[in-house]
Amino acid sequence: MSKNGNSSRITATAIGIDLGTTYSCVGVFFNGKVEIIANDQGNRTTPSYIAFTETERLIGDGAKNQVASNPQNTIFDAKRLIGRRYDDPVLHEDKQFWPFRIVNDKGKPKIEVIFKGQAKIFTPEEISAMILSKMKETAENFLGKKITDAVITVPAYFNDSQRQATKDSGLIAGLNVLRIINEPTAAALAYGLDKNLNNDSNVLIFDLGGGTFDVSILNIDEGQLFQVKATAGDTHLGGEDFDSRMVEYFIDEFRKKYKKDITKNQRALRRLRTACERAKRALSTATEANIEIDSLHDGLDFYSKISRARFDELCADLFKSTLRPVEKALRDAKLDKSQIDEVVLVGGSTRIPKIQRLLEDYFGGKELNKSINPDEAVAYGAAIQAAILSGDQSEIIKDVLLVDVIPLSLGLETVGGVMNKLVERNSRIPCTVTQDFTTYEDNQPGVTVQVFEGERSMTKDNNLLGKFELMGLPPAPRGIPRVQVTFNVDANGILSVTAREESTGKSKNIKIKNEKGRLNKIEIEKMIQEAEKYKEEDEKLKRRVSSRNSLESYLFSARSALKEYSSKISEYDQANLEELIHENISWLEGNREQDAEVYEDKCKFLQNVIMPIMSKIHKKNSEKDGLKIEELN
Ligand code: AMP
Repeated sequence: MSKNGNSSRITATAIGIDLGTTYSCVGVFFNGKVEIIANDQGNRTTPSYIAFTETERLIGDGAKNQVASNPQNTIFDAKRLIGRRYDDPVLHEDKQFWPFRIVNDKGKPKIEVIFKGQAKIFTPEEISAMILSKMKETAENFLGKKITDAVITVPAYFNDSQRQATKDSGLIAGLNVLRIINEPTAAALAYGLDKNLNNDSNVLIFDLGGGTFDVSILNIDEGQLFQVKATAGDTHLGGEDFDSRMVEYFIDEFRKKYKKDITKNQRALRRLRTACERAKRALSTATEANIEIDSLHDGLDFYSKISRARFDELCADLFKSTLRPVEKALRDAKLDKSQIDEVVLVGGSTRIPKIQRLLEDYFGGKELNKSINPDEAVAYGAAIQAAILSGDQSEIIKDVLLVDVIPLSLGLETVGGVMNKLVERNSRIPCTVTQDFTTYEDNQPGVTVQVFEGERSMTKDNNLLGKFELMGLPPAPRGIPRVQVTFNVDANGILSVTAREESTGKSKNIKIKNEKGRLNKIEIEKMIQEAEKYKEEDEKLKRRVSSRNSLESYLFSARSALKEYSSKISEYDQANLEELIHENISWLEGNREQDAEVYEDKCKFLQNVIMPIMSKIHKKNSEKDGLKIEELN
């Protein structure tokens, strides 16, 4: 799998990205170890949020921070939309919780926002691409060079279409996606479980994040084969639910204390939620946490406390409910809990002591794997996989050869709607399987190849991935023509299907595309260009803000210098400069959205006028102080 190459121990060529529902994280194998990279705000995870405002596009922390004032145009949860069709019932369940607008574009869900005063429509792939490009940029800033190669992680239960769409997002973000790998596999890699375990070990990955809960059981064989034996979970359980419980508790307390209801006050609710999330985090290490919010509602300050015991009680049923998917996954994998060799914690919410205790008790006091930051473990593993694929020869990763498996069986429909499996679930990838088929009617002119994924025996119970027709078969009695169908699953778990008629050599091929709402090549190309355009706009905006700030600070410092040295400047110069500065400050107040060049030109002009006068003062000062000043600039 790994390419041979001469990469040094220091230079990193590929990054690992955990593209999460609520937060994303990027890591790189650098200088012999994995570095999780902090973003420009100093945070090691970045909210998977994009916001569109009157003037700009915000990604990550900036987007999340303004969500209360701009809910309709702040997009999150793109991962819940990606690779799904508009009529997917899961999407309709989720839709009711989103303040942003989802539209149906030829069966594909898209997101409509108002950006710079105009309605704009984005695909979920484009939104995810914006997050990916932020992660790419974070890594580039750290490494000081352009990075294009990346490994991206997805949940183990993601189907082909969701994986394809995630890969497309990478393309739109200008990334060369080396591999899509399963999140639990990445977490197991992070802990080096591929090396530390004996043959045939079972690992349970308990991943409780902000909004989703996933349990996966992996079997690691020969240190190389990562087989997903079972997945279970709750797509709507996570840290945000625990926050909500605390919010309800304090709403009640406020009501009792002040006889006032804050539930209609959106701003107060948002501020209370932020404070509760902070308190919840504190309760993972302290036994008591404070809530202090000035002027929360009707000018009333709200100061209170909450103990860890109280918090545990508020969330007791939710915490306990995390054990049900653990039991289900064990049942599906046909394993007893005593057969689990390692339990790995992933996701920020696994820091909660009560949850750790419940899990430890369930596994009979077993020690849990939690030494790697749980919200970084997936990106950590992805970074290792990225280094392997780019041929890093470092000692600690040299021997890892990661093999993944396909999550669901793949097959095609035969007469009577029967699912004919070509590739069995849990087959190692990449793989190629060929089978011969024939016609069921005399002189049948062609065959329809309908590709499904799933474990059920009838195709109607499985998931249609795509279909195509191979026409122009030579007339022949039924059962005579031979059509050879080949399923090829590449290293990313992405499927292409070819059908070939033997006597004529006629063949047709599909990569699973539009039927499940995939984007086509032209659409992707267009989106790549748009992504570049948005990036340029962001940079333009950044330059505008910084040149406007430079001009502003130059004017204010010139004004204060003028005041300080008024006695040393001629009245004539002073009056002129005062007027010039005043004029420009007023101009700036009314012109906040000019191009960067306008501010830069103004700044240069002002410097040319003001500097000679100021340097006269400095000259006088330095003569007085006996110093010689060469030149001021
Ligand atoms: P993730 O999506 O894995 O990054 O998890 C994010 C969730 O973990 C959020 O709901 C956070 O509030 C939660 N979280 C992060 N740190 C802690 C902590 N120390 N204690 C409890 N929950 C936490």
